Amino acid sequence: MKKQKTFLKPLRVSTFFALKKVAYQAAFAGKEYGYNAEWKKLYIECYPPSSLVFLFERVVTVYKDFFQNAIKKEEGMRLLQELEEKFERLNTVIGSTMDFIKAAEEAFENSGEPFGKVEFNCPNCYSKAKAIRLSTPENPTHSVTIRAACNGCGTAMMN
Ligand SMILES: [Zn+2]
Repeated sequence: MKKQKTFLKPLRVSTFFALKKVAYQAAFAGKEYGYNAEWKKLYIECYPPSSLVFLFERVVTVYKDFFQNAIKKEEGMRLLQELEEKFERLNTVIGSTMDFIKAAEEAFENSGEPFGKVEFNCPNCYSKAKAIRLSTPENPTHSVTIRAACNGCGTAMMN
């Protein structure tokens, strides 16, 4: 039996192929557990919840249903195709948000001021975007609060 870790490691997959592989292994391991709560804890709830993990769970369910003869192969393939499209959309959103955050952070670096307001070019639509960085030591999770938004495409982030 694997030991439960005290901290959660995020699920890191950059392609749907990689996601399917991890999901297949999780569903395969579940056969022995009878897909019980302990199995779920070890193979799904071991990741901090995110949109990606939510999608991952749905892929695991497709394999699980297939292993349990609840769905036919063609049905499973069709569901996986749908989930792959969702994954691609999700990846695009995550990718463009990462670029946006990077551009905001670079703007702060260039300004030479640790806190305050900066303007930068949105990497998604090339409009002017604004970011603000505040010192918030009283905040229990973030001693620095960053907010950034683009009026052009509506991309927004906060930490
Ligand atoms: Zn934009």
